[in-house]
Amino acid sequence: MKTSTNPEYPWHETSWDKFTTARSQDHLPHALLLVGADGTGKLDFAKKIATSLLCTAPVNNKACQNCQSCKTYHANANPDFMQIELLEDKQQISVDQIRQLSEFINYTRSFQGYRVIMINPIERMNQNAANSLLKSLEEPADNTVIILVATNLGKILPTIKSRCQLLTLTTPEKNQALSWLKSQSPELTQAEELLDMANGQPLTALAISDEEIQSKEEFGNQLLASCLKQKPITEVAKNWEKFDPQTLLNWQIRWLQTLIKSRVTSTQKSEINQGYNSEILSKLERIIPDQKQWDLYQQLIAQKQYIHTSVNSLIFVENMLLLWLQASSTNES
Ligand SMILES: [Zn+2]
Repeated sequence: MKTSTNPEYPWHETSWDKFTTARSQDHLPHALLLVGADGTGKLDFAKKIATSLLCTAPVNNKACQNCQSCKTYHANANPDFMQIELLEDKQQISVDQIRQLSEFINYTRSFQGYRVIMINPIERMNQNAANSLLKSLEEPADNTVIILVATNLGKILPTIKSRCQLLTLTTPEKNQALSWLKSQSPELTQAEELLDMANGQPLTALAISDEEIQSKEEFGNQLLASCLKQKPITEVAKNWEKFDPQTLLNWQIRWLQTLIKSRVTSTQKSEINQGYNSEILSKLERIIPDQKQWDLYQQLIAQKQYIHTSVNSLIFVENMLLLWLQASSTNES
């Protein structure tokens, strides 16, 4: 079976270099405190370090994915690796979980790599657990690295902080995050807005985008159904009245822009619109006659002014759907 590697992010390169330099100079700490914002992949980075340390034959400091240690890791069965995290329904990491760590450190290693313990999130330990962890940090075991993962450095006890080597993960710059987002999701049409919504955290933005792409497809299909009179406008409008009206309007305007532009310039639709959904667009193209597309486009643009003034979002959505129905060829029969 081929094992997969952990995802890697370009904004972590500097931090990774710091880690590999420390390792090559034999300055590997017994405890590494990794701090980074949510939604930027810090857990993936922690796992990249963990696998690199567990591996018995790392290539360029990265896990080889082929040795026994790597294989057992990917099967969730590496005896030299321990992960401590919040248990289901628990708000804090307990002292019992940390005690298991001190037992684990005393076992003989199974492979020739390091023994690795990963604790996340470190700021969610209760006092007893923190005290117990301190003991392990004060008496480091050979060939053992404890990786502590945190979001908020300010919430970590100074006694713990002082016994770890701190590695701060940078948050990606906007352009870097944007180009990464687009590489992950070529369907994406509003990467910048998504990134803003996600406070600049690209992984969070990606999760939102998956949802958005799904919603957009669903809306397209229901819009078609109402144009084809398979579904009453009132019913479709009811489904979307709670949805952000700006987003709904943007999708429709973009669809029409794509249709008009591809006809006028004889360009492939997919070249104009990266979020192009071939099925929906070709169906819309068939039911909205060429000569009506421009008018409909203008009418939808005009709707923008009502987004914030419309008192009733249900009526706002109904009006948009009605414009499509009036423009569609099915309306004439
Ligand atoms: Zn390996």
